[in-house]
Amino acid sequence: MRVLLPLALDLAYDYAAAPEAPPGPGRFVEVPLGTRRRIGVVWDGERRGERVDPARLRPVGRVLELPPLPDSTRRFIDWVARYTMAPLGSVLRMAIATPALFQPSRPAVTYEWTGAAPERQTAARRRVLDLLRDGPPRTAAELAELASVSAGVVRGLADQGVLRTIETDPDAALRPAAPRPDLPGPDLSADQAAAAAHLRGLLDGGFRAVLLEGVTGSGKTEVYLEAVAEALRRAPGAQVLVLVPEIALTNQLLERFERRFGAAPVAWHSDLTGRARRAAWLDVAAGRARVVVGARSALFLPFADLRLVVVDEEHDQAYKQEEQVVYHARDMAVVRGSLASCPVVLVSATPSLETMVNCWTGKYERVELPSRHGGASLPEIAAIDMRHETLPRGRWISPRLEAALRATAEAGEQSLLFLNRRGYAPAAICRACGNRVQRDNCSAPLVVHRFGDRLQCHHCDFSMPMPRQCPKCGAEGTIIAYGPGVERLAEEVGALFPDLRVAVMASDTVRTAREAQAFVERIERHELDVVVGTQLVTKGHHFPMLTLVGIVDADLGLSGGDLRAAERTYQQLWQVAGRAGRAERPGRVLIQTYMPEHPVMRALIEGDGPAFYRQEAAQREEAGWPPFGRLAALILSGAHEAEVAAHARALAAAAPRGEGLHMMGPAPAPFARLRGRFRYRFLLRVRKGVDIQATVRRWLAQVPEKTGVKVVVDIDPYSFL
Ligand code: ADP
Repeated sequence: MRVLLPLALDLAYDYAAAPEAPPGPGRFVEVPLGTRRRIGVVWDGERRGERVDPARLRPVGRVLELPPLPDSTRRFIDWVARYTMAPLGSVLRMAIATPALFQPSRPAVTYEWTGAAPERQTAARRRVLDLLRDGPPRTAAELAELASVSAGVVRGLADQGVLRTIETDPDAALRPAAPRPDLPGPDLSADQAAAAAHLRGLLDGGFRAVLLEGVTGSGKTEVYLEAVAEALRRAPGAQVLVLVPEIALTNQLLERFERRFGAAPVAWHSDLTGRARRAAWLDVAAGRARVVVGARSALFLPFADLRLVVVDEEHDQAYKQEEQVVYHARDMAVVRGSLASCPVVLVSATPSLETMVNCWTGKYERVELPSRHGGASLPEIAAIDMRHETLPRGRWISPRLEAALRATAEAGEQSLLFLNRRGYAPAAICRACGNRVQRDNCSAPLVVHRFGDRLQCHHCDFSMPMPRQCPKCGAEGTIIAYGPGVERLAEEVGALFPDLRVAVMASDTVRTAREAQAFVERIERHELDVVVGTQLVTKGHHFPMLTLVGIVDADLGLSGGDLRAAERTYQQLWQVAGRAGRAERPGRVLIQTYMPEHPVMRALIEGDGPAFYRQEAAQREEAGWPPFGRLAALILSGAHEAEVAAHARALAAAAPRGEGLHMMGPAPAPFARLRGRFRYRFLLRVRKGVDIQATVRRWLAQVPEKTGVKVVVDIDPYSFL
């Protein structure tokens, strides 16, 4: 039998099965590997590698008392490995990345009083018995603490038979409550009801992918909750997976689920403790977890009866995982649904072009909610043409935006200033020689943080105090913070409006789900007048008093120039704009830009999203970019530049050529050095219909691997750095 190990191996190894009761596919087993023992999973996917002589097989060891990894999860792992070209074992490792899974929690031992009297009564003994007479069973440690006795007193009473022990399941407290799909939801508008009926209707039809599209506030969440309710009603163990891009911001969503279904969903993300992860994993496998709201890795959970997958904010780039196994969770969610034969609902106000094109070609269905719920109007969007504004040095808020901030504050309402740049300033520059302060061995920029006190890297945890002396020319006191970040903008707001309460919302001021929740509550309670935020604020929050959104540098995202720059900018700015004016108070959006004629700005100002999508699609199609052509990136990295360059040349010599293939590179990556490693990139573009994985596989097979040079394949890349 074959056993797949969670190691960077592309095949399952053969072992001799236990003759009396061979463990079935998906079971977790212990097997010998070299001199060690490892835990793996009995695998039944397509065979790779040669069969080993049965006489030489080593026997499978202990079978773990864990539920098996279900068939649909195993087939999904096979699929992801094949598609992303990651080693099969690496995908398994990611899927079971819950070390606590293999460390069952020990049952907790508690004590209760039998009612018998101790042989000899003491004050200490009486305190213990008084506690147990009036309260629940407790552990020895609790009793010792509460009754101020030594643990020996408790043990002594137990030895005499005065106390009896009870074993309790420590995970019981973590068990999820069952959701109640029949609690009433809100009365839906006619459009919402039609959309909900459409989604409900999909639940019997096997796999379908559907885009649920509608402006922020149109009720997309209400509508998909109806589909969730219907899926839950289908069977006592029916399960639903709702993927969200960033778990730190899902508290509002979790609370909404709880209000709707009377029970909190099971959350799945990397901040969970080992025990909570283990409990969640087991609950999903046993079908007790009916609704899971999770980050992308929730796709790999062992669902027993998956009936519906929802991908909220499907356009969000946080769905692309860039580390280890490089995959796009939105695309893999569609695969997951097809393997589980259930519908997949992709939800967005600003769908990805990939999804839009799939709708146009009929591959996906499309359900639209045309207007905001309850007659709330969309915000009015206007551009501030920065070519005609004169701003003093070190200022970024134009007089028009300043006036709007003042008027909003005077009306007792809240404002949001959006700038997608963390920290105080994007660079530290020497005024004397123009040198940009940088590390010697890294090309990732150093960003000024903490109001000018420190330099920090956003790609690793390096940080240093702001230098007093220029490392290049040696001049003293010439290093200045250059350009604006959110901290600096908050400083400017403070200087303009000393009486307003201002705070920064960025990933370094709001790091955890709890901090995000606390921040959101401060806005809701109107303890803040102006929020200055990065893209973190663009994600699904409702603030009824927030009526002004100022986009400080709308052009920022367009300068990078990667193929999705325009699309991403459109999505981001439209999402930020959607934060303005939800309820009875209409909102207003001011966009500071040097290019008001740019198609992105025009689409926003004229409210013509469809025109933007058509134009963007036409350009990509013309040039053969995704989703009309396909891309694969190869990223080479190593500690010695000469070795990386040599390997890049060897790969270049073997590069695939031919009709429909277009190779770019090798070239030093834009981040030519990262964490001390030298980096080169290739980008292969192929016509749709060309098997890009097979092409890359053949290519790599021709060039022997080189020790010291790591090659990472990124299928459908989103980052080009
Ligand atoms: P979206 O997900 O499209 O941004 P939501 O589903 O979050 O929209 O709805 C926006 C707001 O309007 C929420 O506060 C929601 O509870 C409310 N809402 C939407 N539809 C209804 C409805 N039919 N009845 C009552 N409230 C609704």
